[in-house]
Amino acid sequence: MTVDARKETRGFQTEAKQLLHLMIHSLYSNREIFLRELVSNASDAADKLRFEAVSNGDLYEGDTELKIRVSFDKDAKTITISDNGIGMSRDEVIENLGTIAKSGTANFMQKLSGDQKKDAQLIGQFGVGFYSAFIVADKVVVTTRRAGAPVNEAVRWECSGDAEFSVETVEKTQRGMTVELHLKEDALEFADNWRLRTIIKKYSDHIAIPVVMQKPVAVDGDATEASEDEVINTATALWTRSRSDVTDEEYKEFYKHVSHDYAEPLTWSHNRVEGNLDYTSLLYVPARAPFDLYNRDASRGVKLYVQRTFIMDDAEQFLPLYLRFIKGVVDSNDLSLNVSREILQKDPNIDTMRGALTKRVLDMLSKMASGEPENYTKFWKEFGQVLKEGPAEDFANREKIAKLLRFATTHTGDAEQSQSLEDYVARMKEGQEKIYYIAAENFNTAKNSPHLEVFRKKGIEVLLLTDRVDEWLMSHLSEFDGKSLQDVGKGELDLGKLDTEEEKQAKEKVAEQLKPLLERVKAALTEEVAEVRITDRLTDSPACVVVAEHDMGAQMRRILEQAGQKLPDSKPIFELNPEHPLVKKLEQEGNETRFGDLAHILFDQANLAEGAQLQDPAAYVQRLNKLLLELSN
Ligand code: ADP
Ligand code: MG
Repeated sequence: MTVDARKETRGFQTEAKQLLHLMIHSLYSNREIFLRELVSNASDAADKLRFEAVSNGDLYEGDTELKIRVSFDKDAKTITISDNGIGMSRDEVIENLGTIAKSGTANFMQKLSGDQKKDAQLIGQFGVGFYSAFIVADKVVVTTRRAGAPVNEAVRWECSGDAEFSVETVEKTQRGMTVELHLKEDALEFADNWRLRTIIKKYSDHIAIPVVMQKPVAVDGDATEASEDEVINTATALWTRSRSDVTDEEYKEFYKHVSHDYAEPLTWSHNRVEGNLDYTSLLYVPARAPFDLYNRDASRGVKLYVQRTFIMDDAEQFLPLYLRFIKGVVDSNDLSLNVSREILQKDPNIDTMRGALTKRVLDMLSKMASGEPENYTKFWKEFGQVLKEGPAEDFANREKIAKLLRFATTHTGDAEQSQSLEDYVARMKEGQEKIYYIAAENFNTAKNSPHLEVFRKKGIEVLLLTDRVDEWLMSHLSEFDGKSLQDVGKGELDLGKLDTEEEKQAKEKVAEQLKPLLERVKAALTEEVAEVRITDRLTDSPACVVVAEHDMGAQMRRILEQAGQKLPDSKPIFELNPEHPLVKKLEQEGNETRFGDLAHILFDQANLAEGAQLQDPAAYVQRLNKLLLELSN
């Protein structure tokens, strides 16, 4: 006897323990999903065997007919699910059934509230795989042998739902895994032929291999006629069926199976492409972002099949990074079964497919935007920020992506990102040539920025951008529908035909008159500003700061600064509103010290109004207090 053969008892990882507890004690509704989970695992195991067998046919051990068997014993109060898939080694059993490594589960645990009723509902939403066996069972016994391993190197795993499980090396003739559920007293209803069939049909019809049950024996039947197998599910890969044969329910169940996400998808697109390249794709838009959407190393991509044989999960070569939230299946008839990630990266046909699949997804999104606006709103909340990476990554599709973007704007005035660029363009004023936007750290700073004053006065809409990616996005978008996108805080404000000739002339005249003032301010702020000029942006505020046309925007600067990056020195332009009483006061100020103080205060305030950090906040406070004291004297 080898050391391995000894029976050992191990404790669960903490999260697994909590989860088991919940499964056993809190889930009363929708208990039937345990079967979906176990059948789904068996199907994954069959996929994995097929894949490994491509390079090592011996793994089939002479038995290539993959199937999943569900049986029950009313008297023994058990249900058994067995498969002849890849199976597991002892180490794999401990790894996979003793810890929680799966993202869905981790996500689930994060959301646990401690309130058992709510948590129980959550289980239904997330599905937590193998452990859902404990919804109906108080004892679960797994026997499994990895394909290719000797018959006497199988493993028996047993757990009665407490803090421990045991593993023991045993014999098992058939490769694969058998899960024996010892039903709780209140779950005996599931040990029933009709009930089990109904559940399989409902949740597992799309499973590509047969799920079989023994035909029920007629009560007065001849015992020798018993034990005839019957296939319960359709047992063809769902994506190979024609669209008209697949119901929405089936598409949704299939999504849960491929994505390991248990919420329903928002929409999907199922297509067969024939011709130069021959492949089928079934792509889904999830309803919820995974918690690791922004983690560079998170898994992404579709499941790749070649001629119905599973090849790999997370094949990321088929879609660009900004569509990393898409889930689904691509089944190619051209690729070799031996295809690897390295080969995929080099294959020019993959680029072609990637281009076509990208278009499919963008079309699917735009169809959802026009046909199911409520779903699109949900989509945008979850994935909008990721889609905003699109124009930078995918220049060729940037107009298409631009149409899918949604923004908060001064038109609606709320923080909801609900307006498209097309909406904006449709509302443009007579004579307006540009699409205006402002980028700021948060919504209120954007909405109340002094830069918007003249736009408000003239009734011109401005996009209010507050996401970190926004300036990055705008620098790659630069144009929509032939109209350039203009940061209202940058460069000379050129409202084009929106400014009347009189306004322009009046401004020039004032600038001429105030030249001495502008020079005095420039001298006082020589360290801080590149230029001082008369504004045509402001109606209510005394002053604002503007970034030179080709300098980095203020929001981008702040982000880079926070990231500890060294920035090129660039001083802003300081604009004064000649109509404002404070500016008039400044002009009349004869005392040079007081003039300098007031100029500094106006400059600092202009920065504050933009949400910027002052270089020397203490100096600002001192100057302001000095003036306040003079006031009260
Ligand atoms: P998931 O299916 O999301 O990976 P599960 O909790 O359902 O999570 O299963 C955990 C792991 O246990 C699987 O990833 C797989 O490695 C292993 N496993 C479960 N069932 C089987 C099976 N029937 N055959 C082989 N391995 C299995
Ligand atoms: Mg699973």
